[in-house]
Amino acid sequence: MKSVSIFGATGSVGLSTLDLIRREPDAYKVVALTANSDVDGLAAQAKATGAQIAVIGQARLYGALKEALAGSGVEAAAGEEALVSAAQTGADWTMASIVGCAGLRPTIAALKAGGTVALANKESLVSAGALMMEAASASGATLLPVDSEHNAIFQCLAGSRLEDVARITLTASGGPFRTKSRDEMAAMTPAQAVAHPNWSMGAKISVDSATMMNKGLELIEAAYLFPVGLDRIEILVHPQSVIHSMVEYRDRSTLAQLGSPDMRIPIAHALAWPQRIATPCQPLDLTRIGRLDFEAPDLERFPALRLARDAAQAGGATPAILNAANEVAVAAFLSGRIGFLDIAMIVEDVLNRYSAASPATIDDVLAADGQARTQAGQVMERLTA
Ligand code: NAD
Ligand code: MG
Repeated sequence: MKSVSIFGATGSVGLSTLDLIRREPDAYKVVALTANSDVDGLAAQAKATGAQIAVIGQARLYGALKEALAGSGVEAAAGEEALVSAAQTGADWTMASIVGCAGLRPTIAALKAGGTVALANKESLVSAGALMMEAASASGATLLPVDSEHNAIFQCLAGSRLEDVARITLTASGGPFRTKSRDEMAAMTPAQAVAHPNWSMGAKISVDSATMMNKGLELIEAAYLFPVGLDRIEILVHPQSVIHSMVEYRDRSTLAQLGSPDMRIPIAHALAWPQRIATPCQPLDLTRIGRLDFEAPDLERFPALRLARDAAQAGGATPAILNAANEVAVAAFLSGRIGFLDIAMIVEDVLNRYSAASPATIDDVLAADGQARTQAGQVMERLTA
């Protein structure tokens, strides 16, 4: 039996992971489940799976969680330090699916513990990629990408040498505003931005897909996971989300990974790796889909793509600053404080105003992240004054 922990168990990726685990009760036993504030959801999951421990991120909710778990035999814990120590407990397999840089410390702790870490939490890798890759190689942890594109690339690489790779193509759906003009985008509401045409996901990544910052973050993620050089990683808009990414080798052979747009497919790959398990996902029906379309990304309408590539090129703390400013701006957009086009504008403004030395430690990353959040708050105040 494989022991598994899920960080961010109540979210979209967390629920998909639990769905797979529940279908194979003899294969997996649950160690830790975590959530930020959904006490009832977390307690129900922990009881249903017989988890050893449930951790709620918000320390003030400890009492509520303890009460909800009374008599169940599941241990209750709360607060950021409890998240980190649950990650240190070292399950065989840990799903890192907290959203945002909030997942950084638990994800690093899981990597240091040395098991297998299935990484959905791309913001942690964007912010602290070099340190995370170092932590994984120091402990011997296995880092498996869950983001569908990176999971596809991992599958297409299948152990090949990176020096044989000519090009990695990250596919992008283009999001809900793929065909919208800048003027049309200016008027888009949070409800319109989170209505993704192909994928059902959490609110933050859905907005990132609409601005295409998601693909920008994924470019940075890919550069850390598959260090072939930034100039060898390109983005291709593919509205049907059937080809999840491609690897072209120097002999000009190109491998692609295809599948229905269902996150349970890449999650199942990471869960069972190096074996395979069955999933309840739809088989790919290319006759029904009929055609696959491709187009070049439009950097004018989607400036986030340019900002992210520049940040990747700059390296050091710049991706962490980009990510933090984006998190603040997306939250402000979702709460109705700013308009859709303001998101990339705020990120650009913060990147122009603030830089930090290359981080040597996670604390350095978190300091740059915190400073960038403060700067983003100030830019926003001027904007909405
Ligand atoms: P979500 O919003 O649905 O869920 C986020 C989870 O993180 C929840 O369990 C929440 O309780 C927890 N969380 C949020 N803030 C927290 C905090 N401060 N401390 C502790 N826990 C906190 O998000 P999601 O769509 O499941 O995405 C999770 C991660 O996976 C993101 O990094 C996202 O980019 C990535 N991802 C998601 C998808 C997808 O299909 N949803 C696909 C690829 C990658
Ligand atoms: Mg993705």
